Amino acid sequence: MKIAVFPGSFDPITIGHVDLVRRALPLFDQIIVAVGVNSTKKYLFPLEQRMEWLLQVFAQDQKVSVDSFQNLTAHYCQRIGARYLLRGLRNASDFDYEKTISQLNHIVGNGIETVFLISQPEYSHISSTIVREIIVGGADATPFIPAEIRIGTLP
Ligand code: ADP
Repeated sequence: MKIAVFPGSFDPITIGHVDLVRRALPLFDQIIVAVGVNSTKKYLFPLEQRMEWLLQVFAQDQKVSVDSFQNLTAHYCQRIGARYLLRGLRNASDFDYEKTISQLNHIVGNGIETVFLISQPEYSHISSTIVREIIVGGADATPFIPAEIRIGTLP
C-alpha cells in the first residue's frame, strides 16, 4: 500500500491544494490530507472548519481521507504507516524551504520520501496566505476557493 500524507494548514483550502491532490491520485493507493496543528500558530479558521471543508471537497474521492495531527509530521507518518509525503512547489522560495524540511523528514522519519509536484502555472500564484488577506480585506475569495465550499463571512 502506497500511502501519502499531504500535510498543511489548509487555512483555508484553495484550488491549488485540490489540483495537487487530484494530480497525485494516480501515484498512490491512498492520500491522507492532514491538518497539522501547531499550538503556537495563529489560524484564521478553526481546525474543525478547515477539516469540514476538506471533507466536503474530497467527499467523492475514494482514495482521499482527512485527518489532523499534532507535533512532528514524520512521527505522524510513522504512526499511520505512510512512507510518502506530498508537497507542492510554486516557486524558488517554496523549493528552498521544502528542501530542508524534506531532508529532515527523511532522517527523522526513517527514510520517508517527499514527492513534489510543481504547481500548474494557473495556480502558482495562489496561496492560503493571499486568500486570507483577501478575506480579511473584505474582498471576494471565491475564485481561489473550491466550488464545494462557501466562505461567507469571517468566523
Ligand atoms: P503550510 O502551512 O505547511 O505551508 P499550506 O496549507 O500553506 O501548508 O500548504 C500545504 C502544501 O500545499 C504545501 O506543500 C504547498 O506548497 C502546497 N500548495 C499550496 N498552494 C499551492 C498551489 N497553489 N499549487 C500547488 N501547491 C500548493
